[in-house]
Amino acid sequence: MEIASAILRRGLLFVLSSPSGAGKSTIARMLMATDDGLALSVSATTRPIRPGEVDGKDYYFVSDEKFEEMVANGEFLEWAHVFGHRYGTLKREVLKVIESGRDVLLDIDWQGTQQLKQVDPDIVRVFILPPSMAELERRLRARGTDSDEVIQRRMDRAAAEISHWAEYDYVLINNDAEKCRELVHNILKAERLKATRRVFLHDFVREMIGDR
Ligand code: 5GP
Repeated sequence: MEIASAILRRGLLFVLSSPSGAGKSTIARMLMATDDGLALSVSATTRPIRPGEVDGKDYYFVSDEKFEEMVANGEFLEWAHVFGHRYGTLKREVLKVIESGRDVLLDIDWQGTQQLKQVDPDIVRVFILPPSMAELERRLRARGTDSDEVIQRRMDRAAAEISHWAEYDYVLINNDAEKCRELVHNILKAERLKATRRVFLHDFVREMIGDR
């Protein structure tokens, strides 16, 4: 019997965290462009939409009331307060990706990562560090979307986010987006091959060698 390699293991939850401005969204976009087997879980948030963002693609932008209702309905795998707004991973988004036979990329903060680890101990957690705090500030300013006050708050928040780096399975420094993408991709490829993840492989190997 021929078993497609795609079903030889179950989908994995691949978490990318970093302070905002460390290049995580760029890396996430580049990863998905180079790997068909990976799809982003689009989160819901109460923060206002930024210029260039698309509802349903970058986030599902919802009101506080709606978010509250979704929490009450148990629609989230995890959710957290970030910069005074709420962000959450939707169960149905994650299921949609897993059911399509792909792995799930989650761009969430340390609070969400902690919660997700409780739900599924098999998640893979990757933390991306900026080369320095000065470089992080430069990148935040280069985006030109936030006021000085917001940038200062993001820098404070970045230091708090970075303090959780040791809770992750892998930690990288983003000196160069393409190099960083390649390393993250290598991690993903290696994790996919982990023996413990290849649950369907038992049947496959049994067919090859019988019960020994
Ligand atoms: P931004 O507003 O810049 O898009 O995202 C701010 C922060 O919220 C980022 O660190 C991002 O990883 C985090 N975030 C985005 N979606 C989620 C989510 O669904 N859950 C959690 N816990 N954090 C999220």
